[in-house]
Amino acid sequence: MQAKSHSHRKSSIGEEPPPLQSKEEHSKRLQLKDSNWYKVSQSETLNRLNSNKDLGLSEEDIISRRSKYGKNNLTESKKQSKLVRFLKQFNNSVIYILLVAGVFTLFIGHISDTVVIGIVVLVNALIGYIQENKAESAISKIKQMLVVNATVIREGQRIDIDASELVLGDIVYLEAGDSVPADIRILEANNLKIQESVLTGEADSVQKNEKTLIGTVTVADQTNMAFASTSVTNGDMTGIVVATGDYTEIGKINQSINDVKQEKTPLIISINNLGKYISYAIVLVAVLLFGFGVLFKIYEIPVLLLSVITMVVGSIPEGLPAITSVILAIGVQNMARKNSIVKNLPSVETLGSVNIIGTDKTGTLTKNEMTVKDIIIQNHQYIVTGDGYSPDGEIFEMEGKEGLLTNKSSKKIKNKLKIEGDLKKLILIGALANDATLNQEEGKWIINGEPTDGCFLTLCKKANLDTSDFVEIDKIPFDSDFKYMAKIVDLNEERYLVVKGAPDKLMDIISNSNSEFDKTYWQNQMTLLAKQGKRVVAVAYKKISQDIQIIEHKLLRTDLILVGLVGIMDPPKEQVIDAIMQARNAGVKVKMITGDHPDTAVEIARQIKLSDENRVITGPQLDKLTDTELSSVIQDYDIFARATPENKLRIVKAYQANNLITAMTGDGVNDAPALKQADIGISMGIKGTDVAKESSDMVLADDNFSTIVDAIKEGRRVYDNIKKTIKFLLPTSIAEGLIVLISIILNNPLPLEPVQLLWINMVSAITISFAFVFEPVEKDAMNKKPRQKNESIIKSQDTIRILYVATLIAGLGLIISQHLTSLGISKDIVSTVTLNIVVFCKIFYLFNIRTEGTAISKNLFTNKIAFLVVAILIVLQMMITYLPQMHSVFRTAPLQIKSWLYPLYCGFIVFSIVEIEKFLSLKLRKIK
Ligand code: ATP
Repeated sequence: MQAKSHSHRKSSIGEEPPPLQSKEEHSKRLQLKDSNWYKVSQSETLNRLNSNKDLGLSEEDIISRRSKYGKNNLTESKKQSKLVRFLKQFNNSVIYILLVAGVFTLFIGHISDTVVIGIVVLVNALIGYIQENKAESAISKIKQMLVVNATVIREGQRIDIDASELVLGDIVYLEAGDSVPADIRILEANNLKIQESVLTGEADSVQKNEKTLIGTVTVADQTNMAFASTSVTNGDMTGIVVATGDYTEIGKINQSINDVKQEKTPLIISINNLGKYISYAIVLVAVLLFGFGVLFKIYEIPVLLLSVITMVVGSIPEGLPAITSVILAIGVQNMARKNSIVKNLPSVETLGSVNIIGTDKTGTLTKNEMTVKDIIIQNHQYIVTGDGYSPDGEIFEMEGKEGLLTNKSSKKIKNKLKIEGDLKKLILIGALANDATLNQEEGKWIINGEPTDGCFLTLCKKANLDTSDFVEIDKIPFDSDFKYMAKIVDLNEERYLVVKGAPDKLMDIISNSNSEFDKTYWQNQMTLLAKQGKRVVAVAYKKISQDIQIIEHKLLRTDLILVGLVGIMDPPKEQVIDAIMQARNAGVKVKMITGDHPDTAVEIARQIKLSDENRVITGPQLDKLTDTELSSVIQDYDIFARATPENKLRIVKAYQANNLITAMTGDGVNDAPALKQADIGISMGIKGTDVAKESSDMVLADDNFSTIVDAIKEGRRVYDNIKKTIKFLLPTSIAEGLIVLISIILNNPLPLEPVQLLWINMVSAITISFAFVFEPVEKDAMNKKPRQKNESIIKSQDTIRILYVATLIAGLGLIISQHLTSLGISKDIVSTVTLNIVVFCKIFYLFNIRTEGTAISKNLFTNKIAFLVVAILIVLQMMITYLPQMHSVFRTAPLQIKSWLYPLYCGFIVFSIVEIEKFLSLKLRKIK
């Protein structure tokens, strides 16, 4: 392609405003007031902003402009102040109950109790605040990872930059699927359509062009402008940035559309509800108990009231929702570290129940490093050596008989050949019907654009050919629906239509208009290449009249000449085979959805062991089925070849009609509906369009299939750990309540003082509640079937365990305290032993709950945090037991060494009984 060389122009058309750099004031005026760029001609716009369409800005310009206007970011709306967020933690029913208790103790003169209650209230609020912050910062870090890139021309090079780096006057190239990164005056548009609903409310895409407008028009009618936060749905464009950041139209209404949503997940909602019901039940029991106590004159009223309040506080699992959010948020953070950026919390849960992953092939299962390996023209076959985009490699002709070509590997290679005739045409057309650029950076050859385009540029360099004499007139960019790309180009006063695309598509077009076309020959050649797992692209052209300026699809329908086929190698990623095996073991079926030929798809599926049968159906076959027919046969297929984005949407719906939770990957603008429809829409971070990323629930930063499987594993870990937290917190909380309840009913003195119960609550909240946040994944997590979506988090078996463990801990505490009292041991010592019994039972039970398998195994030490929090808890227990200052406040007393045997024995009893129960229920489940 001819490089149209321009120098930075200083002259102008129309009025002569001062140059941009001359005065800062002038620059500000440009950003702030001059928003009528649609009225300004292209050359004038370039002139005013001192830019150049082909060369873009210089490094110097960029630096000075950025220092003037800052980054191309929208100012974030103000967050709540830290103090307000802290104060909000006091708006909580448990805190209210505690405050009532605090006032009450003050009233009856128990000042030390008031102080303890005050501290507990503060600690509770502080924990809530820290947890909320932790969850939020995890989510906002994820938000920062969703960077939008922009393709710009700077110093004559086409490069991708972070869109926040854009400055006024930057020349930007946008294509279908891109988000518009700033307000841009269009300089050149090809079939351009932009969806502007965020700004105008209009759902349909608007046709855009570069023509200067006259008069004053509203934003919705500015057809030569592309506005920030809208998205390109068709065609492509080049334009110049005229406003950035807050100065853009969207900036003026300050609305960020790409926010990560921190929604309440179904799980959090059901946990909140669970917490609420339990709280109501506890309050009811407390009221009844108080009535009972008063009626039977069990304790003195103040002691009774305080005991009942403590029971309520002790047994309400108030930390549950907060800790659940933290587990989810940390899960999201872990996933991000492993390259899956989850945009909303509910997806973390849904991931654990995925049944089907519908995945693209190119770039997700394969490396997306395309290399042309074979060229077939009429009666000749060539092989191309070299790998990747480096032009190191040569083209050799294969020997073969007429009517060609065998698939034998022992082909003899002829001497180095001359590139001429159809071979030359094919290589040139491949490089002309192209939207990529190939450059050498730091010794490495890299492409900007589609790999399928890039490999043709490498081929052209390998052949030592050059397209700079051709001039591009118009083009149809590649589109997965049409599966080809076409351009009109001029060479020496001659005009040509050049096309490259899916062979079957082009062959159909050609055979419709040309009865002489030897379709069978070409189909055989195509199959030959496809069966080797290669992507096949056909190259065609025709000469056209000089009058034709604009390219339309119908221009291809007549006189197109097929020059030849190209076989492109795109090997599978190494990790994919293992990831597919893991998914299959985890009961998740992987389906390949590809635009490629069925033979190519089947061969790649075989290489990656997609399934045992690799049954294939094509898009056109699928189009013939009704929705009902499709959903009844969908489970018979593993591969969907020659599929279009529309097919994807139907495929997702068909699986969902079979009650299967479906994850679907996508990258193009047309994939958006399927991504939205899927239970988990997964977009590609590298090759994905901005539109796909916005429509998805999860972005794969590395475009790698195995990342999805890792995310499923993490999703299962998160869910299991939330479940473990509930299974841990409920019985231990209930146990504390039961101790008070049973003592009152039996009219026994309380073995634990209210402040002691508050202490247990407080120290557990700051230590062992966190143990499950970092619990590693269960070793058989990926050998289980996916969880049913609406499966209840607490099963009947769990309820039984919750109840018996609560009774066991309470019972042990009560029995031992009775026993010690009967031996005449002082009340303070009895209380201290009982307090330690409850805490030690919690510690031992924590290790029961860590795994569904046997607790004592080589996995015992996998969660270092669990040991750390236990160590902290033991230190705190030592403090309350031995520090004299604590004794007066908490009414505790130092214990002799042998007294520690009670808590240890009790902990061990709980641990052993739960282990036996786990073992028996595992056996029972196996028998079932
Ligand atoms: P996958 O789902 O595996 O990622 P895909 O959706 O990327 O595949 P398409 O891009 O729709 O598949 O490609 C379908 C066919 O279109 C290819 O087999 C190839 O023949 C042709 N093709 C792909 N990219 C180009 C391109 N840039 N120029 C011309 N033809 C192309």
